[in-house]
Formats: sequence, structure tokens, C-alpha cells
Amino acid sequence: MAMRLGAIADDFTGATDLANNLVRSGMRTVQIIGVPSAEELSATDADAVVIALKSRSAPVEQAVEESQRAAISLLDAGATQIYFKYCSTFDSTPLGNIGPVIDALLDTVGADYTVAVPSFPAVGRTVYQGHLFVADRLLNETGMRHHPLTPMDDADIVRVLQKQTMRPVGLVNETMVLAGPDAVADAVKRLHHAEGVRVAVVDTVSDEDLYTLGSAFSDLPLVTGGSGLGLGLAASWSFTSSREAERLPVAFGAQVVIAGSASRATQGQVDAFIQTGAPSFAIDLEKLAQGVDVVEEVLAATALALGQGPLLVYSTRSAEDVRAFQTRVGVERASELIESTLGQIASAFVERGAGALLVAGGETSGAVVNALGISSLQIGPQIDPGVPWCAAKSNGRLIHIALKSGNFGQPDLFTRAFQTLDWEDWP
Ligand code: ADP
Repeated sequence: MAMRLGAIADDFTGATDLANNLVRSGMRTVQIIGVPSAEELSATDADAVVIALKSRSAPVEQAVEESQRAAISLLDAGATQIYFKYCSTFDSTPLGNIGPVIDALLDTVGADYTVAVPSFPAVGRTVYQGHLFVADRLLNETGMRHHPLTPMDDADIVRVLQKQTMRPVGLVNETMVLAGPDAVADAVKRLHHAEGVRVAVVDTVSDEDLYTLGSAFSDLPLVTGGSGLGLGLAASWSFTSSREAERLPVAFGAQVVIAGSASRATQGQVDAFIQTGAPSFAIDLEKLAQGVDVVEEVLAATALALGQGPLLVYSTRSAEDVRAFQTRVGVERASELIESTLGQIASAFVERGAGALLVAGGETSGAVVNALGISSLQIGPQIDPGVPWCAAKSNGRLIHIALKSGNFGQPDLFTRAFQTLDWEDWP
């Protein structure tokens, strides 16, 4: 089946978030890292493609240029709707990048108007009278007020967005949303014809509202929002079951966990894994600080265990130990050293027959994906909420990989993860 939805996300985890929602709604979904070549895109067989950019905090011109190129490639590949995905807390500054990217995409797609739906009620993000709430707080009364890159000191999304674009921004409120899909679609059209509104912020306080908006906007050439709107849109089309959509090729080869996150949840998962008595190898921070190449050492130490059930390599430590290492070598250098070491270890493991890798840590995931030369991920079944297995090609070789943000997942995730895949022969 041809591609239905072409999405552009302004960061990597945001892309995964949307892709994951689409798969759970029955759409076969592929996430692509960076703007793909026409060749790569035409070889992609999926109902939805989500292109992950790093444009959230990039200079405006760069964000606009990359987003337009991404949209053109998706349209060329047959997408009938373009979805610009940003954060459910509307992470941006008065300069952008949400407003300028919406402007540019309206032009690229050739649409008269679009909608802005950051809400995701299931995770506490709602919009009422145009004001964004995080649980029971207005956006500007949350930690987002002090975000280092995109501080949000105003919860009025109409006002926030109007500072980022010359084109008129309007509001479709909850009363209208409660009147149903046709009323909402009409309201957006009327705002455009009567008041010249090009972007309508739409209230959403519940999952039902998301489904109303999904039906209302299923034919708009351009939609924009958080990942929640994806659930509504996907539900308005009839796709196969999620079981069908999340099917991946069978897995094979050795099972490896690479943990480079020092977050609480990962610390617990490392402890729980070690408790089971499964083989675990801590990166030697002392040697790393001395400039010793520890990759060979890890490979030698793990050689016998590789392929005999899951094994773990980790840099995960207590907060004090992390600080001590950072003080010793410098914060940036500490991250660089560990990320590049774990990346090299991952790619050496794949060369030695690893077929399924679970990676813990957002930055660590980026480093591993780079080291493995992965450019796209087919999203499969979830291990835990927000942690899907994916199929990918690493230098032409099929592997399975799960990329976990540090704080995601239950304590037994590392042991349970590999049972979620279908295996050629269970090791
Ligand atoms: P999370 O998703 O938990 O934030 P990330 O991988 O994004 O995890 O970030 C963790 C950062 O901390 C990475 O740059 C990683 O290299 C670094 N790191 C991991 N272990 C240690 C450690 N023991 N000491 C210092 N830094 C570490």
C-alpha cells in the first residue's frame, strides 16, 4: 500500500514518539534519520514515514530549509498528508522554530490553512481556551519556564504562535470541538475565510477530542501538533490491526544490552540484570580517564558470553560516581569518551554476530545509531510503553535494535526485552 502520512519531527525522540503511536494504531511505520534521498524513500514500504530532524533549536533558516526538503521528499514519495510534529509543551522561542516552519510548510504543501494541536491528554498535556496545561498547571508555571534552550513563559498558545509568524493565528475552542468533527472542520474553514486565519490552535482536553480532531482533519493537506494527534488521525482511517503493523522480521544472533544512561530507571535495570547472574561488564572509568582504549578489553572479556543469552555492557553509575568522573575529565569530555566507546563496542559486537541490541540513554542511542550507520528504523512491538523494538540495517546487515530514553521502562526490562521478539532459534 502506498504511503498515507508523511511526518516531519523536530527531534529524534519526538519522531519515535509519533512513530510509536502510529504503529499502535495499525499503521506500518518507518522512522528515517535526517532528510532521505529519493532512492531511500522510494524503497520504503510503509503506511507512514516519520522523518526525524534536529531542528527544534537549530537556526531558523536551517530548520525551515530542512523541513521543506523533508516535505518535498515525502510528497514526491506519494504522501497525501504532511504532519509537522513538535513537542507537546510547544518548545520554541519568539524566533521560532514552530511558526516559521509552519509558514514554510503551508507554502511547500500549497495549503491555505492548517491547525495546531500540541495536546496529548494521556500524558497530561491539554489545551483549553488556547492555554496549554501540563497536568493541572499552566505551561508557564512548570519547569518549562526555565528550560535552557526553549523557555516557555506564556501558556497562551495563540499568543505564543502569533509572535513567531506574520500570518494570522486563531482559536477553535472546546465548545466547538464538542460539537463534533464536521463543526470543527467548518470552524477552521470559516476562521480562514472570514478572518484570514492561517493557523488555528484547537482546544483538546480529552482522548475523545483527539478522535474528533482526527476525523475533522483527516483530509487537511497539512496538520501540525504533538504526537497525540497521530492517534486521532490514524483512528479515522481504517488500517490493519496493530499486531499486523508491528510485525518485524525474525531475530537472530547474539543479544546485547548497552547502557550509557545514568538515570534512575536505568540504574535499577542494570542492578536487576546483574542480580539475575547474567554476564555484565562495567566500563572501566579509571582506565578511560587515563586515555586507555577499553574497547579491546571489553571485547576480550565478553567473547565467551556473546551469543549465550543476553549480556550487558554499562557505564551506568551512581550520581556521585558520575559527578566524580565529570570533575576528573570535564563534563563534555566525559560524555564524549563514554558515548564514543559504547558506539565502538556496539559496532564491534554487530561485526561479531550480535543481532539484537537494546540501548539505554537518549544521547547514547544517538551515538550507537551513528556508529552502526543506521539511517532508518522500522518500528515494531513495544517492550514497555514508549520503548519499541525496531528493525534496521547496519551496513547492509539486518539487526534488531531498541532505543530507550534513560528514564523509561520497568526494572526487569533488560531481561524481558528479548522475549518480545520472534527468534529464528532461541539462544
Ligand atoms: P539519558 O537518556 O538517561 O539522559 P543519555 O545517554 O542521554 O541518557 O545521557 C547520559 C550521558 O551521560 C551520556 O552522554 C553518557 O555518555 C554520560 N555518562 C554515562 N555514564 C557516565 C558516567 N559513569 N560518568 C559520566 N558520564 C556518564
